[in-house]
Amino acid sequence: MKIVNSLREKKATKNDNKPAESNLIEGPRLVDLKELGKNLRCCKCDEVLCLDNVSDETRVAFHSTLKVNCPKCNVVTLVSTGKCHRVNNNNRTKRSDITTGVVLGAVHAGYGCSGLNKILACVNMPLISSKIFKRYEREVGPAIEKAAQESCKRAASEERQLVLNNIEKLCEFL
Ligand SMILES: [Zn+2]
Repeated sequence: MKIVNSLREKKATKNDNKPAESNLIEGPRLVDLKELGKNLRCCKCDEVLCLDNVSDETRVAFHSTLKVNCPKCNVVTLVSTGKCHRVNNNNRTKRSDITTGVVLGAVHAGYGCSGLNKILACVNMPLISSKIFKRYEREVGPAIEKAAQESCKRAASEERQLVLNNIEKLCEFL
């Protein structure tokens, strides 16, 4: 019981030290400016909304959905900070364009989740969890593999053509 209580106390202290799940949106984010600008309009009266009136943020990796209050009619509008796309023509599974791009870039550059998080930490951006990173990695993996295979085929074909072009010279060396 003592151990359990001390663990509970530790957890409580840890939570106290954590920046409270405040509604204030702080720090850098990756946003699609055109998309954000388009979405920052009240769903009821079409008034242009202001980021000062954000009351909450739901974030998954690099995509955020902001709750923005309209000062004119007091209605809350959900504002997406970037575009999303469907995966495998599945209507239910939607992925963020920005997150797909970042994970693709990280994998292409040879970085894993922890490497990417080091970069994000340096710019004070929210980190990506390994679970989400893996989810996006599974999406971009086949595309990278296909591109690599095509690149190998192209290189083999170019090499073959070079040999054919220089066959006479090669014969002289033999
Ligand atoms: Zn309004």
